[in-house]
Amino acid sequence: MERVLFLSGNEAIAHGALRAGVRFVCGYPGTPSTEIVETAATLEGLHAEWCVNEKVAMETAVGASLAGVRSLVTMKHVGLNVAADPFMTLSLTGVNAGLVVVTADDPGMHSSQNEQDNRTYAKFAKVPLLEPSDGQEAYDFVAEAFALSEEFDTPVLLRTTTRLSHGRGRVVPRVPVEVEPRDYERDMTKYVMVPQHARIRNRVVLERLQALRARAEVTPLNVLEAGTVDFGIIASGVAHAYAREAFPKAWFLKLGLSHPLPYDKVARLYQSVSRVAVVEELDPFLEEQVRALGLPVVGKEAIPADGELDQELVFTALEPYLSRRPPRRRRPVVPPAPRLSTPPAPAPGLPVRPPVLCPGCTHRSVYAVLRRRRLAALGDIGCYTLGALPPLLALDSCLCMGASIGMMAGFNAALGRKAAAAVIGDSTFFHSGVTPLIDAHYNESQGLVLVLDNRTTAMTGHQGHPGTGRRADGSEGPAVDIGALCEGVGVRCTTVDATDYDALDSAIADEAERPGLGVVVARAPCILMTRRTPGTVVVDPERCNLCGLCLDLGCPALVPGDRAMTVTDQCTGCGLCIEVCRRGALSYHEPEAGP
Ligand code: SF4
Ligand code: SF4
Repeated sequence: MERVLFLSGNEAIAHGALRAGVRFVCGYPGTPSTEIVETAATLEGLHAEWCVNEKVAMETAVGASLAGVRSLVTMKHVGLNVAADPFMTLSLTGVNAGLVVVTADDPGMHSSQNEQDNRTYAKFAKVPLLEPSDGQEAYDFVAEAFALSEEFDTPVLLRTTTRLSHGRGRVVPRVPVEVEPRDYERDMTKYVMVPQHARIRNRVVLERLQALRARAEVTPLNVLEAGTVDFGIIASGVAHAYAREAFPKAWFLKLGLSHPLPYDKVARLYQSVSRVAVVEELDPFLEEQVRALGLPVVGKEAIPADGELDQELVFTALEPYLSRRPPRRRRPVVPPAPRLSTPPAPAPGLPVRPPVLCPGCTHRSVYAVLRRRRLAALGDIGCYTLGALPPLLALDSCLCMGASIGMMAGFNAALGRKAAAAVIGDSTFFHSGVTPLIDAHYNESQGLVLVLDNRTTAMTGHQGHPGTGRRADGSEGPAVDIGALCEGVGVRCTTVDATDYDALDSAIADEAERPGLGVVVARAPCILMTRRTPGTVVVDPERCNLCGLCLDLGCPALVPGDRAMTVTDQCTGCGLCIEVCRRGALSYHEPEAGP
């Protein structure tokens, strides 16, 4: 006899995740989504974590996906507001192993402060949206979502609503999907979202959306169901179930993959019937897209735009429209594929000036050590992100403010070892690095967090932050000590002088080899605040053998000459190259004593 489970929608999603080969599940509790992680935590083969908030959960899942395992992250609808920063840019980077985001919306606000319709996030982020309409689909659509995620290299939004999340029904288990973990391959153009990479990825996203629309036309998730009356309904999610019961003889366009909208399938419904209604809870998400095709439709003038629907409500709302004279049938005016802009050409005659770290920037020492230690470096947003660009090429990822630590935790959890470090600036650490550090400690994550503390918010022009105590009006306030903060959380922390290369190297080496979680604060003020007299470093051509060790720093003031390294007048005299050179070929120039 066929085995049947009796599951809530949330439980069905957790079981569907196990069946889909997911290995990492995380989220933040929020009604109506909570039971997905709770159930996942009971299923053998799934690693499940509560995270400190939805943003950290999203970033942790991204790290696990990057490391190569299928990852599922769950939250209620307002949680996606908290996680919107990583989510929006994740659309650009795409995924390695599949990544699915479950948003559980709450029409009627049974347990929520607002009633937002998160289908809009799919349009906003240009990602596919799946809407199961019962428990079986909640189970089945998880595997469909992961297949789409990997085929189209995109996060997928799986949207449920309270009635589906908490309602129970029969679920027939399916044959498990066989998936192997994917190898992680460094790809900075894809995963480091600095402007020059993001512009390329943005076009990939726009082209992907067209390919997804073509898929929406042929996928069995979108079904045109024939009826026996001259009336058609477009619906998705639980609204389809209500409408189906209210109008069993109607034609239906049932959308399981409801974004992007399949225009041809909509057109075929209009060729079959002379009256069409859209039945959907909350916003006129589908209705507006149908109207944009120039097609007459009954929508929110009949179906309430707030609260939950049910079959009786749908019937009484639409029944009066059935007896009205049908509008003249029209063909859809399908919008053409959007045009993409032509990237501007560099102005002729002007030198190309790629962004680089400033000469003498002490972030270089950290990157030089990381490269030598062969740790993946999951980065963050600040001037240190420039370390991802030539000549350093030192970062593996940059997603959004504060993403590095959560991604590191997910990456290392997926691989079960300390394979990646997080690199985050002092200002970014205060912005949104503290919560993922708490999370990593709470979940006993492995990892090395490098805080590049240059005592300012350098990228935007040297603004103060809580670590400096310097306020917007220049007055001095209390300063927060990063080391004490980390230790207060319970994470061991070492603070080293970032200009002392050997001390930094040994602090990073120690922490990389110790189990558990640790922080190294590499502290030295931004060189632009402490710049010394330029031109104070000289090269001894007899000692320099052009080994290139100092070039690891990527300082633009160091230029290889024919027979020895040369130092240009961009040099700020930071002295880092003097420390790095093992042949003593670099030194400070001692000015001759005057007469
Ligand atoms: S001292 Fe060396 S590393 Fe520092 S700015 Fe000058 S050349 Fe560059
Ligand atoms: S200055 Fe020193 S580190 Fe740089 S190339 Fe010459 S010998 Fe190598």
